[in-house]
Amino acid sequence: MKEELFSLSSYIHSNPELGNQEYKAVEAITAILSSNGFEVESGIAGLETAFKARFTKGTGGPTIGILCEYDALKNLGHGCGHNLQPSVALGAAISLSKLEETPPFTIEVFGTPAEETTSGKIPLTERGYFDHLDIALMMHAGDRTTVDGRSLALDSFEFVFEGKESHAAVAPENGISALDGVLMTFNGIEYLREHVRSDVRIHGIITDGGIAPNIVPGRSAAKFAVRASDRPYLNHVSERVLNVARGAALATGTKVEIIRHKSLENKLNVQTLNDTLLENAKLIGADNITPPRERTGSTDFSIVTHRVPGACIRTAFVPIGTSNHTKEWVQASNSPEGNKAIMTAAKIIGSTCLDIIYSKELLEKIKQDYLVEKENQKNLVVN
Ligand SMILES: [Zn+2]
Repeated sequence: MKEELFSLSSYIHSNPELGNQEYKAVEAITAILSSNGFEVESGIAGLETAFKARFTKGTGGPTIGILCEYDALKNLGHGCGHNLQPSVALGAAISLSKLEETPPFTIEVFGTPAEETTSGKIPLTERGYFDHLDIALMMHAGDRTTVDGRSLALDSFEFVFEGKESHAAVAPENGISALDGVLMTFNGIEYLREHVRSDVRIHGIITDGGIAPNIVPGRSAAKFAVRASDRPYLNHVSERVLNVARGAALATGTKVEIIRHKSLENKLNVQTLNDTLLENAKLIGADNITPPRERTGSTDFSIVTHRVPGACIRTAFVPIGTSNHTKEWVQASNSPEGNKAIMTAAKIIGSTCLDIIYSKELLEKIKQDYLVEKENQKNLVVN
């Protein structure tokens, strides 16, 4: 299938589409799945560019989901390698469907749009599309071949401060600077930063700093992302960040409107599943295999892992240290290295599916690990 997988990836790369507009990608991907006997449902969970494709062999056996993303970045194109993911999912799923003698199983390929923007996995998860799966797997390109332990939970906020405009030289005493509210929020967060756990990340930008230096800003706004490795602690830190903004409004005589944007959970870690993926990566001879990442960002795959055991294999295709969302990634995503990563990841995911299809004990162990992890997370408390 090599050539078909490479040309699919290259086609999506040459036709970059933003989140929720990935029409060409979805058409191309689902056409291949249909012609290989998968039952395709498009436009699910209220998302025009989400899909589900199903193949069942025999009765009973595990149901395994393979997820793929395909959205590009604004003004950049495929700088996160998402164009590789459909080829990986198809390579693994279609290969499995062609095997003649295996125990029964069901494979479902999910197309999850808009990872970079609105997170298509959120409505898909909330509407229960993954609940019946025994496990969920996906691939993401990377600078090394590895798996994630936990990712960071995330809250994102926008603060809009309202003051009173006035001429900054002629009548400053009549003005109330909304920008002061924003600046005091930034400063207050710097003080807070010293007194939170070291896994916490708080980063912000000013999105509106006023109109001109000679006008006291009547409106000013900032966006922040707050992250921590678990939800209870993140809730605690986020509340303190909101209090900083409220305090800044009080101190400056401004009003603040707090808008809550996207929230994500931390990913749950299933050690046995991660170990199986890395074991297969070694057998297949993947490049730059390293132990699970200590430092991660946040991912919308995390909420899927709060419903079913899940894992993502990061697959090396750029030199170590090359950061995503860059021109280097755009280039590598349509190159011999990108194609090599497709084959490697498809084999890792396909082999992991086979391990699970053939071993009830392995699936049982994965489920046990998952329950323990879930229980541990539930019992976390903030002192
Ligand atoms: Zn990505």
